[in-house]
Amino acid sequence: MRVLLVEDDDSIAEPLAEGLSRYGIRTDRVGTGAEALSAPPGDFVLLDLGLPDIDGIDVCRRLRQVSDVPIIMLTARGDETDRVLGLEIGADDYLPKPFSTRELVARMRAVGRRMRPAPPREPAPTTALGPLTIDDRTREAFLSGTPLALTPKEYQLLVLLAADPGAVVDRRRILETVWEPNFFGPGKTLDFHVATLRRKLGDPRWIENRRGVGFRLVVPG
Ligand code: CA
Repeated sequence: MRVLLVEDDDSIAEPLAEGLSRYGIRTDRVGTGAEALSAPPGDFVLLDLGLPDIDGIDVCRRLRQVSDVPIIMLTARGDETDRVLGLEIGADDYLPKPFSTRELVARMRAVGRRMRPAPPREPAPTTALGPLTIDDRTREAFLSGTPLALTPKEYQLLVLLAADPGAVVDRRRILETVWEPNFFGPGKTLDFHVATLRRKLGDPRWIENRRGVGFRLVVPG
């Protein structure tokens, strides 16, 4: 982790940077508000409110306008107005001076936990049939983890058959679902696609032909 320490007082900044390094935290230190606004904010900003050029509250506000970086205000001021104002304009926490490095690191961890992004969404609906996996989100099918190079029609045909494995899907329904209602193309269109799909699946037994009726998907045993 890398923090931007904005602190004009050497007697605070130097031991603090050294203390943070013992926690594996690298510190880039600047001593003015102007420098703070032009420096890369890193993973965390530790911001003294009493700076020689720009008020720390203004620095905080301007940092927040351009970045979501977590900000902890370091304040020596007895007046709580600045702390409240700082939190209102987007600082994540404050720590009154004097404080120990340990206390600061604990605050940083607490802020980091609050900022942790929401857990990833539920996995997309995936159909798994033996070694065959169909990921409906990416519209990809895999056989033993290897992607199958399917055409859109082959993919749709596979999805339709895999929706109810073992059940016979009649030819008319396949044509109307994968192609279009009232499909009157060449009579061999469906058989042609079944043949190419079977070849890509590497085993003709995946798709069983019920002559005159339709097709069904079966995991080869
Ligand atoms: Ca100061």
